Amino acid sequence: METASQVAGCAWAAWIGFNLQMVAFAATALPAHQVHFDGFRARLPASLPTMLAPAEIAAAVAHEHGHGRHLHNWTNPLHRCLLLNPGLQRRRRQEIEAGVYAAAGGHGALASALRKLSNHPDDVSRAERL
Ligand SMILES: [Zn+2]
Repeated sequence: METASQVAGCAWAAWIGFNLQMVAFAATALPAHQVHFDGFRARLPASLPTMLAPAEIAAAVAHEHGHGRHLHNWTNPLHRCLLLNPGLQRRRRQEIEAGVYAAAGGHGALASALRKLSNHPDDVSRAERL
């Protein structure tokens, strides 16, 4: 007969397994038009050169590398494994950290790339601050 702690342990192990799978399959789960960092490299949609200038593409790649530099793609699943909600504030802070990383590398075209790729209020706000 299983105790409640054994059941909870099995549920938590399954949750950790699920989150590890999400890291592995995030690249396939995200929309094809979305620029993102998959934990190992920046992934760019094939249509990006038709949407952005080369400097804007470099800025978008630098932004995604900023996520990698700050280990966002690893700390977020770790938080979920520990049953901590990453939260909107944390995600916004991570986007700012990645943007600052790109800007520090001299990729000033990030604001114009953001304006072209998204009309989400958070992205509009970030573009205004860059
Ligand atoms: Zn980002």
